[in-house]
Amino acid sequence: SDSHFPVPISPSHVDYSVHFPQLFSSSDEGGDSKKIEFADVGCGFGGLLISLSTLFPETLMIGMEIRDKVTEYVKERILALRVANPGQYQNVSVVRTNSMKYIPNYFGKGQLSKMFFLFPDPHFKEKNHRRRVISTHLLDEYAYVLGIGGIIYTITDVEELGDWMKDCLEGHPMFEAITEAELEGDPVVKLLSSATEEGQKVARNGGQTFQAVYRRIAPSL
Ligand code: SAM
Repeated sequence: SDSHFPVPISPSHVDYSVHFPQLFSSSDEGGDSKKIEFADVGCGFGGLLISLSTLFPETLMIGMEIRDKVTEYVKERILALRVANPGQYQNVSVVRTNSMKYIPNYFGKGQLSKMFFLFPDPHFKEKNHRRRVISTHLLDEYAYVLGIGGIIYTITDVEELGDWMKDCLEGHPMFEAITEAELEGDPVVKLLSSATEEGQKVARNGGQTFQAVYRRIAPSL
């Protein structure tokens, strides 16, 4: 249960020296220093983060994962990559947490420039829809932590969930769809399927995927 992992009481209490030891010392206080900008929510085994880490070497990024063993695996994976590739993978980390409860504990207003929700659990039954990681209510929270112009990436192999995520985003006043042309020019879009463990599994089985990529916009007056 949630009681087994610590939760920072506010974003300024996230200890960056634990996550990015080569970049921050334990005496670094939140303040003006660099902040985490990408969040991979329900990161699973971390394939996307590993790819993003070298694609955006100057950007700090974190995976959020609720399963203890999976989180430990990702931690070990990152540590091993740091050892094998000196100076690389210093900008990526993972935390065990329940993203549906604790996003605001980790990120302040407008802090993030990208959020990822890749192959989230479908929760098919109507009564379980409230457990979905994309919902109108949670989009309010994601809009808060995303800066204006920030991008939310979603993908699934479950058509019904794909429609649901798109409908939630489409109906939300703080998000607008990214154009086809922009999608094609964004190197991150290709990684949604190719770099994630779930995406690779779907591709191996020849399955279809459904993506919705939206931008956080300024509220209209
Ligand atoms: N994004 C990865 C990928 O595409 O390979 C993993 C997809 S997997 C189907 C969904 C992941 O979300 C699981 O690892 C699960 O433990 C995690 N998860 C589910 N609910 C969560 C929550 N409330 N907070 C954090 N992680 C969660």
